Amino acid sequence: MTAPAGSPSGDLPTRLVLLGPPGAGKGTQATLLSGRLGVPAISTGDIFRANVAQGTELGRDAQRYMDAGEYVPDDVTNAMVADRLHAADSASGFLLDGYPRTTAQVHRLDEVLGRDAPLQAVLEITAAVDEVVSRLLRRAVEQGRSDDTEDVVRRRLEVYSEQTAPLVNTYAERGLLVSVDGLGAVDEVTERVLVALAAHGA
Ligand code: AMP
Repeated sequence: MTAPAGSPSGDLPTRLVLLGPPGAGKGTQATLLSGRLGVPAISTGDIFRANVAQGTELGRDAQRYMDAGEYVPDDVTNAMVADRLHAADSASGFLLDGYPRTTAQVHRLDEVLGRDAPLQAVLEITAAVDEVVSRLLRRAVEQGRSDDTEDVVRRRLEVYSEQTAPLVNTYAERGLLVSVDGLGAVDEVTERVLVALAAHGA
């Protein structure tokens, strides 16, 4: 049975952020959780890649950063997400995959959501560095992503630890953090996440 949009089974939170290093399985979990919770998964990486594929101006701007393993500038990313969150399907909930990734993005997201619809939980999917590097290099072969080469993968991990890992504390201080081990079979991790979110009881 599919839960109606915005009211997933029981009291599971519907305004969620997914945090975690590249290769931790955020994208895969975001898709599965989106189905289970009945809210759209919004992946900034996917939106950028779609724009690159369509050759839009945004895509042309974003590509050079992505290919170097760097973050797309905050103003560009923030404007894109604010737009997406104003779409009708986000009104009853959403799962943000890969946003926010910087402190400036955290502040912008706070402003966009306002007091009426704050985040209910921030889900951190953890994974050891060696594991994520080997996963990403495997994905490079399977999906041919241009930012999955070893040098770029290492740079993406560095950027994550410099700019995004500190957000784990920011959200922990707000009492929003739910951390889940990303190691194991995909379905097991999804179940772990759902149990942890229910225990958080947002
Ligand atoms: P992902 O698919 O989430 O790993 O994102 C792929 C790439 O898109 C990242 O390495 C960045 O270059 C860019 N990107 C995705 N989300 C963001 C964000 N929130 N801020 C800046 N750049 C981003």
